[in-house]
Amino acid sequence: MKIAIAGAGAMGCRFGYMLTKAGQDVVLIDEWPAHIEAIRTNGLQVVDGDTTDTLQIPIYRPEEVHEEVDVVIAFTKSMKLGEMLEKIKAIIHEDTKVVCLLNGLGHEYTMEKYVPRKNIIMGVTIWTAGINAPGVARLGGTGTVEIQAVEEASGRAIAEELVAVMNQAGLNASYSEDVLFSIWRKACVNGTMNATCAILDANIGEVFDTTTAEAVVDQIIHEFVEVAHHEGVKIDEAEMKNYVYTASNKVRAHYPSMHQDLMQNHRFTEIDYLNGFVAKRGLEYGIPTPYCAMITQLIHAKEQILKVQ
Ligand code: NAD
Repeated sequence: MKIAIAGAGAMGCRFGYMLTKAGQDVVLIDEWPAHIEAIRTNGLQVVDGDTTDTLQIPIYRPEEVHEEVDVVIAFTKSMKLGEMLEKIKAIIHEDTKVVCLLNGLGHEYTMEKYVPRKNIIMGVTIWTAGINAPGVARLGGTGTVEIQAVEEASGRAIAEELVAVMNQAGLNASYSEDVLFSIWRKACVNGTMNATCAILDANIGEVFDTTTAEAVVDQIIHEFVEVAHHEGVKIDEAEMKNYVYTASNKVRAHYPSMHQDLMQNHRFTEIDYLNGFVAKRGLEYGIPTPYCAMITQLIHAKEQILKVQ
């Protein structure tokens, strides 16, 4: 299968590496000059625990790719998705399936502007990865992938083929009957931990141990659940709370990606696609979302204070 990974940061490199190792025909597409240069010069370096592997893998800027592909796997940050799809439209032909594995909410609306609905596959993954330096990806841990075609009549067969391809690569993929639920559930976990840890400059255990955490977390979950229902996604609020608190206990020492992006690396965050999406949709639906709205404003304020790029 000819696969383009659109957005070859940490996760794009992980998926590109694993799929190439499994024999797929993969190209990476990215815009970070130092990263592209390093991969072209030294190959993609992949660090997993004590071992480092080097993989020769083609990497291009969006304007350099022209050959049509069977599947595009999008792995940009949320705010770059539309721009990336616009820039790579030359490789998306009428049957190319485009898979979205980004964190966050509302990406199906962005995808629809660039890709016919029959070719959109939505997904979610709990694999993780990091970047140690340009051209050097850090793996570790294990994960799963869930995908589902937006229009099952036209997209399910190829999505199931892609599940098989991912499984050959060890990605633990499955075809989901309700991927939006899984996407919202993960976003709700991120919505309680990411911004709170970034604003408070603390890890998950430190935040969840405070006497005020429960009131904040419970209200954020309530707002996510209410807006999800209006988006046609049914989430049981009590179950979601249980899920979030159980998850928080397993990763107490972890600094979520928004903390890493904002506080450690002074990069823009995906807040508009987490709490910000809930606040925006809440306003449209007439649902009060005061905590999500304020958290979004505080993160944007911090982005400005830190003069992020
Ligand atoms: P990333 O930040 O590693 O990469 C995103 C883009 O930023 C890439 O184009 C990359 O080249 C560029 N980039 C990365 N570091 C840079 C730097 N220092 N300077 C300039 N450019 C840089 O993003 P990611 O972690 O791969 O995430 C992609 C999507 O997957 C996001 O929606 C994220 O929330 C989601 N996700 C991430 C993880 C994870 O563990 N990293 C897990 C699940 C989902």
